[in-house]
Amino acid sequence: MKKPKIYDNYPLWIVILANILMLAVYVAGAYIMFALSIITGFLYVAYLVILELYFLKEGCIHCCYFGKLCAFGKGAVAAMFFKEGDPEKFCERELGFKDFIPQVLVVLIPLIVGTAILISRGFNLLILIAMIYPVFSWFAVNPFLYGKLACLHCKQGSICCPALKFFIKEKGGNKEE
Ligand code: SF4
Repeated sequence: MKKPKIYDNYPLWIVILANILMLAVYVAGAYIMFALSIITGFLYVAYLVILELYFLKEGCIHCCYFGKLCAFGKGAVAAMFFKEGDPEKFCERELGFKDFIPQVLVVLIPLIVGTAILISRGFNLLILIAMIYPVFSWFAVNPFLYGKLACLHCKQGSICCPALKFFIKEKGGNKEE
């Protein structure tokens, strides 16, 4: 079987598409949280910003794409805010379910709030769409995004990646491909 191409810098179209798909989840969540109140909306956006900065600081600075375009362009963004880290540290971490809780909350909190809004204020199509899209994204978009566009062509993934290792283990595999 033909080996997938490994990118030094991902093509711009992948970076743009990956960001649109990822930001759509954030926008949907923010829409619901702002529908509840301005304060919860701003708190949610602050949470997203802190989360993204955390990923940049704890992951991206140690990634081989630091200063370059990974599938999400975050290597280039990390270089704007932080100094280059230690590539060894990227591989050191063992990820478990608890490490994914912050990302699950990005979807779960708006889902709970959206349900409460629909029950208390009545049916609202936009709220319903904003609730459905992140769940759809989680189960249908992410496997395509990571499986076909990002991880398949990732140089860091071919070296070592704790997230990839975690998902392969969960699927019953035992080695990084
Ligand atoms: S293998 Fe996938 S999850 Fe790991 S660094 Fe590359 S794109 Fe990110």
